[in-house]
Amino acid sequence: MDSRQPQSTDSESVPARSVAFQTLGCKLNQYETDALASRLQKAGYRIAADDEPADCHIINTCTVTNRGDRKSRNTINRALRARPPLVVVTGCFAESHRDELERDGRVVVVPNENKQAIDQLIEAHFAGEMVRPDELPRGVFDFGVPDPIFHTRNMIKIQDGCDNYCTFCIIPFVRGRARSRPADQIRDELKRNIDAGYREVVLTGVNISRYDDHGLAFSQLVESLLETDGDFRIRLSSLEPDRLDDRFFDLFAHPRMAPHLHLCLQSGSDRILLQMRRQYTTGEYRSIAERLLGRFPGFNLTTDCIVGFPGETDSEFEQTCAIVRELGFSHVHTFPYSVRSGTRAARMSEQIPNRVKSQRSAVLREISGANRYAFRSRALGTSDRVLIERFNDGAATGYTGHYIPVVVPTAASDGVRNRFLDVTLRRIIEDNDEMPVLADPITP
Ligand code: SF4
Repeated sequence: MDSRQPQSTDSESVPARSVAFQTLGCKLNQYETDALASRLQKAGYRIAADDEPADCHIINTCTVTNRGDRKSRNTINRALRARPPLVVVTGCFAESHRDELERDGRVVVVPNENKQAIDQLIEAHFAGEMVRPDELPRGVFDFGVPDPIFHTRNMIKIQDGCDNYCTFCIIPFVRGRARSRPADQIRDELKRNIDAGYREVVLTGVNISRYDDHGLAFSQLVESLLETDGDFRIRLSSLEPDRLDDRFFDLFAHPRMAPHLHLCLQSGSDRILLQMRRQYTTGEYRSIAERLLGRFPGFNLTTDCIVGFPGETDSEFEQTCAIVRELGFSHVHTFPYSVRSGTRAARMSEQIPNRVKSQRSAVLREISGANRYAFRSRALGTSDRVLIERFNDGAATGYTGHYIPVVVPTAASDGVRNRFLDVTLRRIIEDNDEMPVLADPITP
């Protein structure tokens, strides 16, 4: 089957088939959706807007929390109510609820291992052919380089799966064992990204610090990527604080490396970390953070925390608050602990009432907001490089290397998007969640 040509449009007067995407959960899902949308668009399909009826709906689901399950289920039901000819469901919720969805029979369920070939399934469907989803080509790294349909910043998937089995997490059961993509493929994909015009790539995966291609460690892979020719920068997606060697810290001295790291903490209590089966202590975490913050002034450290893990006492929650204040994370992605059936933590006694989890989340979000304001305030007066993402009403907006959202007043709209601009940060515009900063362009 020629996967590049749509089988659906046999005459020029027949409008292109349309495909709508709904994506839930992590950035990895977003990357996979972008790549599939790009491939289908190149094959002649029209990508429909969210609320538009379409010939096919592809729902890339998430199961990381109960909320993820609920949202995935609601999104599937909403798509079914529109009665499109085809609804394809993939991703982690589809993986963990496969039997139930298949029994229901109204959607086609595509396992994560076959997700990258969904375009072939759609083409076959509209050509009147039957293809079983698990007969589609397998592979978790073959998504290709998406066109910038939805985003200007692109991701490169370097790793999938996880062997850590944290007691609260379902991911190892739905994404499978850890596997690393061959370094040569990653280097090629970076070159193709640069040729396609991307100026920022985010290295992503489920547990990227465990990257290992026949002895080539994560830091060595990134070192080699930084030496690629071109005008671009590299950002890391969220990272686990284990297996980080000395070379890892040197990466951030490179001008192409974004001085920003989302380093998952989860709890400030060593007892809770042990219960979570995390691979580090708070002392080890602190020494990684201090090394980065001490060596690179203005470094942006962000994190994830789970509050209300089974058995978490008030004083253990206080320990989380203390370390969040101490390390000054500019953003704390706060998750109230959510029971996942099939995980060890779901069977633990001493589940914390929802009311307490909500109170603790609110406290942590407030500390995170204060930290963000302090971090942005310290950055005022400094210079940074912004990658411009959009232009609206006389202002260009984008993110600095430190991942600060900025607004740059400019009259020039042409050719501003997807360009680097050197700026000086002037003032915080709004004290809201985003907290954008007004910046002046530096004229040479
Ligand atoms: S490191 Fe832990 S939280 Fe992260 S994917 Fe693996 S099991 Fe889940």
